[in-house]
Amino acid sequence: MHDTPRRAEPHAEPHAEPHAEPRADSHAVLQNASERATAYLDGLRNRPVVPAPEAELRLEALVHPLPQQGVEAAEVLRRLDTIGSPATVATSGGRYFGLVIGGALPATVAASWLATAWDQNACFRWTSPIAATLEDVSLQWMRDLLRMPQDVAGGFVSGASMASFTALAAARHALLARQGWDVEARGLYGAPELRVIVGDEVHVTVLKALSLLGLGRDRVIRVPTDGRGRLRAELLPALDDRTIVCIQAGNVNTGDFDPAAEVCRLAREAGAWVHVDGAFGLWALAHRGFDALTQGFTEADSWATDAHKWLNVPYDSGLVFVRNAGDLRAAMSATAAYLAEGDDAARHPSHYTPESSRRARGVEVWAALLHLGREGVADLVARSCGFARLFAESLSKAGYDILNEVVLNQVLVSFGSAEKTRAVIDALQAEGVCWCGGTVWQGRTAMRISVANWATTEADVALSVEAMLRAARRE
Ligand SMILES: *Cc1c(COP(=O)(O)O)cnc(C)c1O
Repeated sequence: MHDTPRRAEPHAEPHAEPHAEPRADSHAVLQNASERATAYLDGLRNRPVVPAPEAELRLEALVHPLPQQGVEAAEVLRRLDTIGSPATVATSGGRYFGLVIGGALPATVAASWLATAWDQNACFRWTSPIAATLEDVSLQWMRDLLRMPQDVAGGFVSGASMASFTALAAARHALLARQGWDVEARGLYGAPELRVIVGDEVHVTVLKALSLLGLGRDRVIRVPTDGRGRLRAELLPALDDRTIVCIQAGNVNTGDFDPAAEVCRLAREAGAWVHVDGAFGLWALAHRGFDALTQGFTEADSWATDAHKWLNVPYDSGLVFVRNAGDLRAAMSATAAYLAEGDDAARHPSHYTPESSRRARGVEVWAALLHLGREGVADLVARSCGFARLFAESLSKAGYDILNEVVLNQVLVSFGSAEKTRAVIDALQAEGVCWCGGTVWQGRTAMRISVANWATTEADVALSVEAMLRAARRE
């Protein structure tokens, strides 16, 4: 791959021959895929969230040696649908509340199909002008929506894990460059030491990113958290200009936010770098109603978030933002070309991400933002949080213990002892009306309910509460 900014080849002979036949073969199979996909989505409401055991057994039919001769495209698709579709977990339906998942808005699924047909390589502007443009546009929209500094740089990566990895690489670059050390060229051997501070309830993927970057997952300084899972700013050690502080917007258990205003103020004074893991919680910045929680988060140096969670685009889609564009480019560029690329120059997508060749995942982000608009994103966030409160109120009224203050979209419920709670979760999952996972938070076993899917309705919540109460009374 040559990293030379050049124009796409002009058409030497513009369409010497007009297109002959329409591509009947691709027509049929693509129509067929569209029909099968719509039938799948229509069926989601009436099937259990987890696949039936028989469906998992039928996967055996896919396990065979590579055939000597290939199989017709229509037959490939038929097998995928008849064997594959029943073996999916219905995460795109409205009653999956495990992890923090989100669905895929129809506008984004459709945009993804078209973009897949385009088969663009979003490496450089000249490998795909449309991919590069939609990244530019959606970055500008998100700067605005999430109230980021106007010159913040961004990259489209596979998820929040890679977004934190990318942001922390920029942090590593910036702090070591200030010490006169070129980490991209020289590596970490002999480099000045950096210190990393995290809250005690840091997400494991931030630790994984630190381990991938040679910063070590076990040499972090862990700051205790409070009764809502928030890092206690008053317990931060003294900061300096060789320190990275990782905070979170959206604790994966409680949904709560670290005290960003205080952390960022201390960091700014000391020259430390603040990184925000906002995999889902960053989207709360789109709604003024959450200002008390989100205060100070725009003062950070870098941010990681997911589009495949609360923005409801298909996998895989994460976003990284870095306040100083030069730090991100320096950490991610494969060559020194970024030096020639002034801040106003056209942005090449791969100068902001670990990957070179990749799919044009900005297409779906753009489609979601355009389809929802500013109000639609805010409504999606508010609606999910409203459903979370409804879950908490209904379960609390029935006598069960809600362990967290429900400030966002996450609810932790205990059904009594750890054994009883685990038994209720097992029974609920087996019944299949809805799906929730278990967690242990601050020493207590809980069922975690996470609401982040555009498709969830009030009726879904009611059906799911009934299923939870049924399981709780039976177990
Ligand atoms: C989901 C999540 C991550 C990891 O995101 P991926 O998209 O799975 O890489 C990181 N932090 C938090 C708080 C999360 O909820």
